Amino acid sequence: MTVAIVGAGLTGSLLACFLARRGLSVTLYEKRADPRTGEAERGRSINLAISERGLDALRRIGLDEEVMADALPMKGRMIHPVDGPLDFHSYSASQDRAINSIGRGALNNALLDAAEKAPGVSIVFEHRLVALDSQTGAMGFETPGGLVEVTADVVLGADGAGSAVREQLVGDGSVVDDVDFLDYGYKELSIPSAGGEFVLDPGALHIWPRGTSMMIALPNPDKSFTCTLFWPAGSFDALTTPALILGYFGEHYPDLLPVAPTLVDDYLNNPVGVLGTVHTHPWQAHGRTALIGDAAHAIVPFYGQGANCAFEDVVALDRCLNETSGSWARALPLFEARRRDNTEAIAEMALANFVEMRDKVASPVFRLTKQLEHA
Ligand code: FAD
Repeated sequence: MTVAIVGAGLTGSLLACFLARRGLSVTLYEKRADPRTGEAERGRSINLAISERGLDALRRIGLDEEVMADALPMKGRMIHPVDGPLDFHSYSASQDRAINSIGRGALNNALLDAAEKAPGVSIVFEHRLVALDSQTGAMGFETPGGLVEVTADVVLGADGAGSAVREQLVGDGSVVDDVDFLDYGYKELSIPSAGGEFVLDPGALHIWPRGTSMMIALPNPDKSFTCTLFWPAGSFDALTTPALILGYFGEHYPDLLPVAPTLVDDYLNNPVGVLGTVHTHPWQAHGRTALIGDAAHAIVPFYGQGANCAFEDVVALDRCLNETSGSWARALPLFEARRRDNTEAIAEMALANFVEMRDKVASPVFRLTKQLEHA
């Protein structure tokens, strides 16, 4: 039995580790060059909040300790108002629970290393899926050496929100998708360490709520922070010169200026990313071709649950294969039936949390409610 996984991101590489334990012959096809040998992409969600949902999957393949060794636990939100003191809201009354800031690159590399070591798994880079016959499992990949054609018994699309596998399935009429783009974009900025130390509290997820927009910052193991601006689409274009950028941030994010020496360079050179929710129906075709992770159900990032949810998918699919004695034709529909309601729920919650983070966390009523909850 041969399985092709398209996309060696977080979902695809974790999935390969799980499937290897079933004695299957698994090939991961990734369009990028090997990220372990090159430079990280500029400005693309450098760190992720990984919670217990994601850690559970890592624990099952024995990777939790390695990944957690570099994780920074964040026990609550630190609110940065325009004026006035910082305001910490604990995530848990008992103070013992946290979400973990983890580097995306390091996590992906650890998963790729684990997949590469797993028996029966091979990884090929610089292979971009451009054609797929969902009925026969025949695939075409664009590579530096030209078009490569291969066939697999099972094809799993773990190729992210803009999935080419999904596009092929939509094209042949097996699947219908609907992508709701948010009218907000995101841009990353950096807060470096100073004198080898963090310049903000590393035990918190920092939020600058500004009504219709916001900025967040998560700590990194090198004692820097990565900030993400979430602003209405198009509004990034208004700040075109260093003077405009410094003037705007001085007025709206005054405590950022002294700690972000690369602000102007980051702002002018980092890309603006798009955000959206992907709805797909169904997630599989012919019992042999399926979508998983963001390819099936990408969500906006405001609950920090996209990767956690994709990791849960992998555990759920593995469980379905166990329960169907490895029958893909039965496991794939079962997987979808079990996961769909959960993924739709987190998609809605993620959108709702954007309003809470950018607006409500700064309101006195919200703060009072949280204090009463924790009293
Ligand atoms: P991806 O990470 O997109 O990986 C897809 C892979 O497929 C990539 O390696 C890509 O190169 C490859 N690929 C694409 N097309 C092809 C092709 N045609 N052929 C071959 N390979 C292909 N989630 C959290 O849990 N916590 C967070 O804090 C969090 N923060 C986020 C912040 C931002 C700003 C964003 C945008 C997302 C965030 N997420 C977070 C969501 C998280 O990034 C995704 O849910 C996660 O990356 C999904 O993993 P994936 O492997 O399914 O897709």
